[in-house]
Amino acid sequence: MHILFAASECTPFIKSGGLADVLGSLPQSLQKLGHECIVVLPKYADMKGAEDLEYVTHYDIYISWRKKYCGVFKCVRDNVTYYFIDNEEYYGRPGLYSYDDDYERFAFFDYAVLELISHLQLEVDILHLHDWQAAMIAPLYRERYAMHPYYDDIKIVFTIHNIAYQGKADPKIINSIFGLPDYLYENGNLRNGDCFNMMKSAILYSDIITTVSPTYAKEILTDEFGEDLQYILRIRMNDLYGILNGIDYVINDPKTDPNLIQSFDVDTIELKAENKAALQKELGLVEDPEVPLIGVVTRLTWQKGIDLIINRLDEMMKRDLQLVILGAGDYQYEQAFENVAKKYPDKLSVNLKYDFGLSCRIYGSCDMFLMPSLFEPCGLSQMMSMRYGTIPIVRETGGLKDSVQPYNEYLMTGTGFSFAHYNAHEMMDIIDYALQVYQQKDQWKHLVENAMNEKLDWEKSAKTYERLFNDLLNR
Ligand code: ADP
Repeated sequence: MHILFAASECTPFIKSGGLADVLGSLPQSLQKLGHECIVVLPKYADMKGAEDLEYVTHYDIYISWRKKYCGVFKCVRDNVTYYFIDNEEYYGRPGLYSYDDDYERFAFFDYAVLELISHLQLEVDILHLHDWQAAMIAPLYRERYAMHPYYDDIKIVFTIHNIAYQGKADPKIINSIFGLPDYLYENGNLRNGDCFNMMKSAILYSDIITTVSPTYAKEILTDEFGEDLQYILRIRMNDLYGILNGIDYVINDPKTDPNLIQSFDVDTIELKAENKAALQKELGLVEDPEVPLIGVVTRLTWQKGIDLIINRLDEMMKRDLQLVILGAGDYQYEQAFENVAKKYPDKLSVNLKYDFGLSCRIYGSCDMFLMPSLFEPCGLSQMMSMRYGTIPIVRETGGLKDSVQPYNEYLMTGTGFSFAHYNAHEMMDIIDYALQVYQQKDQWKHLVENAMNEKLDWEKSAKTYERLFNDLLNR
């Protein structure tokens, strides 16, 4: 198969969240299965690891009547070809998103991807679109490209990584930016409620829709999680699939991770204690091998259950434990953590920043990892923790439910701890239970081995995507 992925972020070049990790791994895994994979990204100013880009071509893109320059650059990594869409005005700025003209920046990207196919004469069987930034490629393809011979018979797959970010906009831009006729709003194709909605449009116009865990695929059909897209998703539910993400086993490997002072694996778990001691020292916590060390690595946003943590922070500090938080995001959460951190300098370390190295040291040093999300499409952090033998404590939602098997002390099965309701008391109860099991050294070691032996790489997921794409092409 010839698969073209269009997305707004991808490791190792640029990342704001789990979307980048998926784009960094899935194409490579499918390529290994014998398919030709191409990834198209905007050429952001802040990219890393892209010093060797080679100029390929340039062409014009029309944003309505305005003509814009579109350059194309290229590199190849592990046999996957990456094309970068260049335009200084749109992408020559710091960071990825949160600019007033984001919709125009990604409308340009969407057109650039479609134009790339004919300019470079690419063979494409599957066009795999990710989140709202690439969503409009689906209606643009059907309304403006599919009738041209060169674009004949491309199948469109749209993946929802997080339904909370839909690309809701003023209907005026359907014509003024996307150059599509207004009747597509009036007839409901591009409309949800009383606004233009890019994710809704992709759900309607794609051949199949996937999301990043089986449980989330069910949740988004409900009023509680659907974010007003449950109605259109219910119409398309026979074409909706949930496939759990994996993690990159090369980057996330306690045996080779250069961010750890001591490497280890499932046969040498005892060596992890050296990392714990080093992290306690680095963060100014009391250096104590016995005290359970709990880690949190997260965006600080309501989705991640930060309210539950803040609500129980004083209570947690009464326990014999240490807590390290690494996160950046909403101001009110940052303030709340900063205020409490002052009270407990020996046992609470708050790090309000984005720091990849520190995130690896947390996964590779802590005993437990707390992730009490309100909702979680897939979640990668809990899987990274398991890979490093750091036991996840999660709420049973989305991919957390699909990836963490609750510990059963009688059967000695399971890979972590979980609680059902979004409730601070329930969270505290399960933390207390985890602390109790932690004291049983043999049981705990068994649990850590279970977590580290869990297969969380991309192999299984890539094969599921492969099957799905094959079925789609044979429809
Ligand atoms: P989401 O995509 O919703 O943020 P995921 O769990 O799917 O959540 O992925 C989050 C990724 O971002 C993980 O790789 C995690 O380690 C990383 N991450 C989140 N916050 C930080 C931070 N402050 N510093 C470093 N890495 C972070």
